[in-house]
Amino acid sequence: MQKLFALCTALLFSLTIVSQNLQSPSEFLGYPIGTQFSRHHQVVDYFKQVAIERPGQVKLEKYGETNERRALMLAYVSSEENMNNLEQIRENNLKSTGILKGTSTSNDIAIVWLSYNVHGNEASSSEAAMLTIYKLLTEKQDYLKNTVVIIDPCINPDGRDRYVNWFNETASSPYNIDQQASEHREPWPGGRPNHYLFDLNRDWAWATQIESQSRLKVYNKWMPHIHVDFHEQGINEPYYFAPAAEPFHEVISDWQRDFQTQIGKNHAKYFDAEGWLYFTRERFDLLYPSYGDTYPTYMGAIGMTYEQGGHGRAGLGILNDEGDVLTLVDRLTHHTTTGLSTVEIASQNAAQLTTEFEKYFDNSKLLYQSYVLQGHEDKIAQLTKLLDQHDISYGYANGEKVSGYHYNSSSEGSLNTSTKDLVVSTNQPKGKMVKVLFEPNAKLSDSLTYDITAWSIPYAYGLDAIASKRFISSQKTTASPKRPVTNTKATGYVLPWSSLLDAQFLTNLLQQGIKVRFTEKPFTAEGKTYDRGTLVIVRGDNKKIASFDDVVMTTATKYNRLPVALTSGFSSSGPDFGSPDIKLVNPPKIALLSGDSTSSLSYGELWHFFEQQLHYPVSVINANAISDINLSKYNVLIMPNGYYGSLLDDRLLETLKKWVQAGGKLIAIDGALNSFANKEGFGLQKNTPQLGTKTDANTTPIRYADRERDNTKNLITGAIFKTQVDNTHPMAFGYNDHYFTLKLGSSSYKLLDSGYTVAYLGEDPKNSSGYAGAEALKKLNNSLVFGEHRMRNGSVIYMVDNILFRSFWENGKLFFVNSLFFVNNNMIEL
Ligand SMILES: [Zn+2]
Repeated sequence: MQKLFALCTALLFSLTIVSQNLQSPSEFLGYPIGTQFSRHHQVVDYFKQVAIERPGQVKLEKYGETNERRALMLAYVSSEENMNNLEQIRENNLKSTGILKGTSTSNDIAIVWLSYNVHGNEASSSEAAMLTIYKLLTEKQDYLKNTVVIIDPCINPDGRDRYVNWFNETASSPYNIDQQASEHREPWPGGRPNHYLFDLNRDWAWATQIESQSRLKVYNKWMPHIHVDFHEQGINEPYYFAPAAEPFHEVISDWQRDFQTQIGKNHAKYFDAEGWLYFTRERFDLLYPSYGDTYPTYMGAIGMTYEQGGHGRAGLGILNDEGDVLTLVDRLTHHTTTGLSTVEIASQNAAQLTTEFEKYFDNSKLLYQSYVLQGHEDKIAQLTKLLDQHDISYGYANGEKVSGYHYNSSSEGSLNTSTKDLVVSTNQPKGKMVKVLFEPNAKLSDSLTYDITAWSIPYAYGLDAIASKRFISSQKTTASPKRPVTNTKATGYVLPWSSLLDAQFLTNLLQQGIKVRFTEKPFTAEGKTYDRGTLVIVRGDNKKIASFDDVVMTTATKYNRLPVALTSGFSSSGPDFGSPDIKLVNPPKIALLSGDSTSSLSYGELWHFFEQQLHYPVSVINANAISDINLSKYNVLIMPNGYYGSLLDDRLLETLKKWVQAGGKLIAIDGALNSFANKEGFGLQKNTPQLGTKTDANTTPIRYADRERDNTKNLITGAIFKTQVDNTHPMAFGYNDHYFTLKLGSSSYKLLDSGYTVAYLGEDPKNSSGYAGAEALKKLNNSLVFGEHRMRNGSVIYMVDNILFRSFWENGKLFFVNSLFFVNNNMIEL
């Protein structure tokens, strides 16, 4: 009893101590921080504990959930006084940008947003997040007098736990510093990406992923003055921090550049004192708008990337090539140092930060004042969804004629507008982001960048557009959508084919057992002409479906479609409903290759597309097991971009050939084409034009110091090209005779000799937007973009350009859907 009493007293005593002194991460976790990897829930639990112990200074917010149902969390940290005025500080900041109406008062509170662990296997940073909040609330309280710090301890919880769980089950105890040990070799796909294997640090602008969508809602409510994205790089690199490398996008202000340097110098002070190495102004540029540094920058913040050496290779400790042991403790200590140093300098310069931030939102000097976009209403509607995610305002045209830079012809031109056309202007708080996303060509201060150099929205969404130097007035609403009309006397319903919504309508009907046809030739019925690809849903095909009209109408309403009821199958011109040219859509049984021969990004894009966009089932097959698979269960096989070299030996090629000849459809994307190029029977030849510059190169040797820059002439890292399209081919139904493609490299194949070339680049192709090196351009002369090669009953479909790249090239997606449902859609049972 006495013992129990003593124990209770001791417990009570220790609890009192704890409530006075904030628990450190090490005390809370039960191990010294950095000696183990903490799982995501432990990180969340520590933040919850901190919020319990410091209720006046910390507020937690759950802002979303990942695909695997892990919580996305934010912690707001500041002085008690600021926390009592948190909403007022937020609103005041938005008023300074013009997003909220009203005049802002100068309160000189800096808002600093720290984002950790966007790449799941760069796992030191979530550990640093715990130590950083602890230090802010203990020894660095002073910084919080005039800063609000918003901490996202883990942007990518699914990726983090994929890495941490793998490491925990793999690593030796004690850990092994030998680089060759398995704990330093992550298996495919690695912990870097999210659930669908997307790189969340390429997704800020396109917001295709749930993590980005959830985050942007809060980000746009706050609009911080500083945003830091914590990363890790190779084990032999020490540490990278701001200032960033060229190219800088031209919307970046002198102040943003200067303050990056000030921040860098503040970090350098701490690193120099400890003898830690670092570099600045190299590698990490500020151009592509979808990163965790550029996106905040274009929203007015000082947006930065910090990179610690380590990454998925480093584990708890590793011997690097310079003979030093790099530990998790080192890595998290460095990230904690730069995080705190960032808050420190923000606090020292809070007044200037808020003043300069406000100035960024003056958009009166931008060249183009309005962008006017014209095209199919589904594409316009889809674009407005994206704009809503960024709180970018827009309106609809008044019907006037507008002139300026014309995107489709890449020259000055004009468009007659209608009230369905979208107008996005730069005279709004997000005006600079509008410029970045919409302008025809981003100005490159330096061609040495390794990400895409073009992303212009009108091309990505397949809309014709004018960039106008004059402000184009617009109105708020367009006509409200109509509801589809049932006609129980209809012979069938028809729906023109032009967007992903039409495709979703189709896949949904197919899965309800409805038989759907599509026309290979245009037809005219009841006074209207229907183009190739139009869906035809005939009552006579669906006699077994009792509530046929209801099913079609309910599905149409779900996807906002307006199918037209036709009372006869007789066409005034073109094929009738019963014609062999109006073909049944044979619901494909699809297999999709995954595993370490495939690019995890490309596989993830396809997985996400089927599951979250098209809503159509696929069987995922590990490519390494393909020899054991009964392929005859499927009639479509998709090979994502990948490196199939050793896997696709002659035997497997022969198996695939037989399967295609029997009626299979093989869809090869980007790098997968390498496996078939110049191989007997596959009809694909590499394009190797005479470059003719070898002699020039020989007579003018390249200086060692110029080697990197010289190589840019061979590069295309992402540029936009106008292709010619054969839109009589089923793969191109729903398109007109040209298409803007995003080219990610200079791989080049000849136009198909014995097949159908569906989209291609002709003589002397020119990039419409983005950077393309002169030598790379020559290689693309007369080259294939999309094509179909027939082999007896089946087909091989070649997609040289990956239309699902980061899932943002909306206008390319229908080529892929068409390949699945329309191209060579035979009824052969394999
Ligand atoms: Zn990273």
